Amino acid sequence: MDCRRADSAAIAEAARLLRAGELVAFATETVYGLGADARSDDAVAKIFRVKGRTAENPLIVHAGDVAAAREFGEFDERAERLAAAFWPGALSLVLPRKKGSGLSEMVTAGLETVALRVPSGVTARELLKTFGGPVAAPSANLSGGVSATEAGHVVADFAGGDVAMVLDDGACRFGLESSVAGLFKGEVVLLRRGAVGRVEIEEVLGMKVKELSDRDEDAPLSPGRGLRHYAPGVPVRLGATGAGDGEGWIGFGVLNVSGVSYDLTLDAAEAGRRLYSVLRELGGSGVEGIAVGEVPGGEEWDVIRDRLRRASEG
Ligand code: AMP
Ligand code: MG
Repeated sequence: MDCRRADSAAIAEAARLLRAGELVAFATETVYGLGADARSDDAVAKIFRVKGRTAENPLIVHAGDVAAAREFGEFDERAERLAAAFWPGALSLVLPRKKGSGLSEMVTAGLETVALRVPSGVTARELLKTFGGPVAAPSANLSGGVSATEAGHVVADFAGGDVAMVLDDGACRFGLESSVAGLFKGEVVLLRRGAVGRVEIEEVLGMKVKELSDRDEDAPLSPGRGLRHYAPGVPVRLGATGAGDGEGWIGFGVLNVSGVSYDLTLDAAEAGRRLYSVLRELGGSGVEGIAVGEVPGGEEWDVIRDRLRRASEG
């Protein structure tokens, strides 16, 4: 695997590799993505294979701009509004899939819908522009594990695997995945919390956005949600007041004095940026478990609470 600084020569080479059906991991503003040509069955199959991802879990398709995204999904007025407000940016839209658009069937896991996003990260934008086609890209980590927010995380997960290149652009600006909004008939559903908040989406649409519950009846709306996610490899204990024997600690404005301890601070943006690298460091540090202190209240912490809850279910 070739890990290169994301300069224009490296990006040109990465685009060539994508055209040849290879996988390229690249920095986005959310997390590192593991990209393939979304029109190639063989390339997309490689993503599922190297990640160990089950075939029923659909991938997000990344496009260079709104016009390119319109080739793959049916945009109604809600979609146009959200795209105008948030793209390029950290919101993925689930829309009816456009017939005959040439996307591999595997990308959408056999659904009639497709998830689309125009990312704002400079490396992602340059790569999409140079490649000139749609890139299917889930997070660049082994399925079920902690997402990658630095190039070193990608190398750690896929060394020896079938990933041709990593475009290194340092640490990701948000460090958490995109929000996923499903634009269904008669309702908008937040399928995954992420960098863009529900209230921001509601303000743009002028209507209520439904939060997806974890009830079974909602499961078919978003395949992949119920699967294991963000697991650091050791048990995660939430709502702790301190670390026990052999445990590492993640606190918010609270540092534990003994043992391996991280304070993610009381700033939600900073905590989000650092969360996955801290989970990875603790997971590999030899601790027997991770104790996590009380997460602060407020909407801006919802996404962090969501990821920690999923990590604790690992
Ligand atoms: P990841 O690629 O790991 O960032 O995860 C993408 C997630 O987006 C999936 O696990 C689904 O929950 C969601 N998703 C992608 N495509 C669709 C779709 N067509 N319908 C509903 N949810 C989707
Ligand atoms: Mg993922």
